[in-house]
Amino acid sequence: MNILTVDVEEWFHLCGVGGRLDPSHWDALPSRVVETTRRLLDAIDAAGVPATFFMVGWVADRHPALVREILAAGHEIGSHGHWHRRVYESTPDTFADDLNACRRAIVDAGAPCPTSFRAPEWSINDRVPWALEVLAREGFSVDASMAPLKLVGRLDYPRHPHVRTTQAGDIVEVPPFVADRFGQVMPMGWGWGLRMSSPQRVLSSIARANRRGEPAVLTVHPWELDPDPPRVWLPPRLMFAHYFRLGGFERRLKDIMQGATFSTLRAAATCAAPS
Ligand SMILES: [Zn+2]
Repeated sequence: MNILTVDVEEWFHLCGVGGRLDPSHWDALPSRVVETTRRLLDAIDAAGVPATFFMVGWVADRHPALVREILAAGHEIGSHGHWHRRVYESTPDTFADDLNACRRAIVDAGAPCPTSFRAPEWSINDRVPWALEVLAREGFSVDASMAPLKLVGRLDYPRHPHVRTTQAGDIVEVPPFVADRFGQVMPMGWGWGLRMSSPQRVLSSIARANRRGEPAVLTVHPWELDPDPPRVWLPPRLMFAHYFRLGGFERRLKDIMQGATFSTLRAAATCAAPS
């Protein structure tokens, strides 16, 4: 069983970019999240796949009806932080404040209190050894943020759901899907890695992981299905991550959803191995 997740954020919710995309300008930028999330919801529902939608609290505050639409379609709601900040740019206190602001926005929109979390830009790693403990203390039981990838995490992080023990309680860590290609580890389950690969390539990688007993956790963003995405100048690394091969992604995603079997994040978490 595999897991589909959606990080519900605007096209301008990018980490580490100031200037025109600074949070102080967000309200003045063109909003695309409602239209693109609905497009993604339609595709997901046509495939009959259950999904977990990690909401940016800032989006839930401004579009509470969108949260209710996601719930009404039968999907789970998790937290993607309120201000879409990297966790390692926070302190334990400011991280807890951000979690609380996001939770308040989600609950005020009419959803149950979220118990699962996805860090912006996979930013729970060795730089923030306190992060899982803060999550546990704040009532979270599942985290889906620790990437087994050198750039944002560590290559030797487990690739399967597993329990991590903290002083404030246990957290089930459900890592994103990576695969070995060309002697490298690549993000097969999200971003440029998912968009550059053919559905057949993604599905064969998923099948290999499943044979090892590992679910593949896929992650998509509403802005990846925008037929006319706003274009801004970004540093080259972000330009590639954000705009590479968006054309035809919706069609390829539909093929991937139809070619694999998906369950909920909650169900995967209950099967987590002890650490
Ligand atoms: Zn994000």
